[in-house]
Amino acid sequence: MEKRILLSTPHMGEQELEFVKEAFDTNWIAPVGPHIEAFEQEFCQVTGAGYAAAVSSGTAAIHLALQLIGVEPGDEVLCSTLTFVATANPIIYLGAKPVFIDSDRTSWNMNPDLLQEMLEYRAHIGKLPKAVLLVHLYGQSADIDPILKACNQYDIPLIEDAAEALGATYKGRSPGTFGRIGIYSFNGNKIITTSGGGMLVSDNADLVAKARFLATQARDPAPHYQHSEIGYNYRLSNVLAGIGRGQLRVLSERVAARRRNFEVYQQALGNLPGLEFMPEASFGRATRWLTCLTIDPQTFGANREQVRLALAEQQIEARPVWKPLHLQPVFAECEYFGGTVAEDLFARGLCLPSGSNLTNEDLQRVISAIAAVHKNTIPTQTSLCI
Ligand SMILES: *Cc1c(COP(=O)(O)O)cnc(C)c1O
Repeated sequence: MEKRILLSTPHMGEQELEFVKEAFDTNWIAPVGPHIEAFEQEFCQVTGAGYAAAVSSGTAAIHLALQLIGVEPGDEVLCSTLTFVATANPIIYLGAKPVFIDSDRTSWNMNPDLLQEMLEYRAHIGKLPKAVLLVHLYGQSADIDPILKACNQYDIPLIEDAAEALGATYKGRSPGTFGRIGIYSFNGNKIITTSGGGMLVSDNADLVAKARFLATQARDPAPHYQHSEIGYNYRLSNVLAGIGRGQLRVLSERVAARRRNFEVYQQALGNLPGLEFMPEASFGRATRWLTCLTIDPQTFGANREQVRLALAEQQIEARPVWKPLHLQPVFAECEYFGGTVAEDLFARGLCLPSGSNLTNEDLQRVISAIAAVHKNTIPTQTSLCI
């Protein structure tokens, strides 16, 4: 049996185990311990964020962020449509309503013109949203400046879901650090992982202190257990923070490896008719967390699903680009603003195996399998010509 090539798997460095061992040796297995504080500080150094709170997942960080902004039942939150469901679920946890916005073609992220238009219209009818939740997809930053400008114009806080974009840049800075609050994920398939975990960042110290408070059951300062607010059990464990510290030290290597995967794929497949790789917008540097491409079935000779299934047959995992949230049954009742860009990216988009631990042989197997799908379609085309 050939080895199965997966989309994106954990890739540990040299130091994670030492940090974990330190946690064991000092019995800081729980609760909040010194690795957590160090991880938060080191995360701020790497991203340029002001303050950070380590939590149990990216989803938990989004939930806290929305609550800290004051999102309440009935409020509306404008949200990128092309993303993983975890972006929008916390809007529902709080009883609020997501309103989804389409992507642009340059970055595949929220279209700033659509946002501006939407906010103008909403201001006109006196129904402004409570927050904007902006996603940075597949390791590429959205065009933050015009989005921030539109938000500021109407005094609406921006929350950035940078779960997939740690290590990327926007005009030289880290996406996730521009809005009121940013969040990151250390889930197993992300560019670095703590097996599960997340980070909430902000330049506002009070917001981050409040996030830590809410993430530890909202316990008031008192010798007994006293609570004046409802909190959550959302803090990261000290053991996992140790893994995170090790992973942060290899982040730039992980970015380089994923960018290299992209280049190898693009060099080998970029000239095949009907294949188009996800563009890198001029305003930033993408991590290529996942290498994504779109397939034009007419010119390539096979559609996205045919390519995906051909890869699956060769024990290669590839996945369609995120299904836009406005097309998800669970959000069928939600409002949507935009055209068909995200829908088209979903219909034609495929994510290739992209782990930083892929070998050259792995990459070559994926390349050959895709090239073979194209080649097998040529006889039909020639017979048509005859
Ligand atoms: C992974 C991911 C999340 C959720 O992070 P978890 O740590 O898995 O909860 C949120 N948003 C996006 C865009 C993601 O890719």
